[in-house]
Amino acid sequence: MNRSKEPIMVTRPLLPEIDSYKDSLDSIWESKWLSNNGRKSQKLEVEVANYLGVNNVSLFNNGTIALLTAVQSLRLQGEVITTPFSFPATTHVLAWNGIQPVFCDICPETLTIDPKRIEELITARTSAILGVHVFGVPCYVEEIQKIADRHGLRVIYDGAHAFGTEIDGKPIGTFGDITMFSFHPTKLFHTGEGGALTFNDENLKDRINLLKNFGIKNQEEVILPGINGKMNELSAAMGLEVLPLVDAERQRRAEIRNLYCSRLENVPGVSIVKMPNGVKNSEQYFVIRISEKDFGSNRDHVFELLKERNIFPRKYFYPLISKYPCYSALSSARPEALPVATQIESEVLCLPFYGELPLEVISNICNVIIAACRKSQAGSKMTNREKVDVA
Ligand SMILES: *Cc1c(COP(=O)(O)O)cnc(C)c1O
Repeated sequence: MNRSKEPIMVTRPLLPEIDSYKDSLDSIWESKWLSNNGRKSQKLEVEVANYLGVNNVSLFNNGTIALLTAVQSLRLQGEVITTPFSFPATTHVLAWNGIQPVFCDICPETLTIDPKRIEELITARTSAILGVHVFGVPCYVEEIQKIADRHGLRVIYDGAHAFGTEIDGKPIGTFGDITMFSFHPTKLFHTGEGGALTFNDENLKDRINLLKNFGIKNQEEVILPGINGKMNELSAAMGLEVLPLVDAERQRRAEIRNLYCSRLENVPGVSIVKMPNGVKNSEQYFVIRISEKDFGSNRDHVFELLKERNIFPRKYFYPLISKYPCYSALSSARPEALPVATQIESEVLCLPFYGELPLEVISNICNVIIAACRKSQAGSKMTNREKVDVA
């Protein structure tokens, strides 16, 4: 079993050598400059732009404030069409901007917003589409852009999981009007806490940078109702240390993903969330779906079995955002209007996924899943509670 007895979580932050980070802190101490577009964050902005293959990057103190600012910077209002299958922040930033979220169902293959369902949700009040490249799987960016162009809408992407994703060699941050990235420690590339916006339109740069610094133009003029979204130098220093580690970590994760796939691919009722052809994987999560009908038991059963072994996968994204009490009364939040998302939320499971995950733990996880399937099929007359007891 899990011999170390240390709990196995779904991820673990990528950490640089402590001495290297300390050297970096020394230079901050010398500079006595801790925030407000310091040298470290200027350098990181350039390096992130290079890594992501984008022309414009603005760093933030976290991804949520970055997304909040993106919505402000485009002057969105009224209604925004978005996905219920995401982290709470995606929808909350709309509410914080006084915008009504309109939930659109997702595609069963990609788990991203379904472009075939968007147009029926557009009203005279719609100002934008907010898609999420969930688990690093790209949205149907071309179809979405066509819809947006037809109706004069803006497009924002929550790319929190998509750092390094590419579609046919095209960097993910180049699609839509603005893309948000999160640099929270659960994300592959992180700055302790942090985030960024990427965008093609050079003209947005001044407005975004003003908005993230209280709207302060100079010592005499404050020209916009801004917020404090600035990245500090300690975080930027972390980012400069972590960024060079990202490619090797992605390589290790790709190997772990292959291992998981080879063991789980043919388990009845288990399907693996995969990248479409031509997409470079960000390696942010490894996600499976457990279909009760073919597996014989359900996702929650597998979750409990792993938990008993001190292994903690996550049920991302359960519950759907549309089920939160603050949104559930919206007509677009009705489960009947979101049949695919409602099905998927009961099936998804994010398995532990990070470069240092020991091979025997991966093997244990797969064994538990495979055994759960066999047991369930052998004892299909048992109740779920009994199955947990037997396992
Ligand atoms: C992590 C995450 C966010 C929030 O980013 P923070 O940097 O933690 O504020 C937003 N959306 C998604 C999909 C995320 O996973």
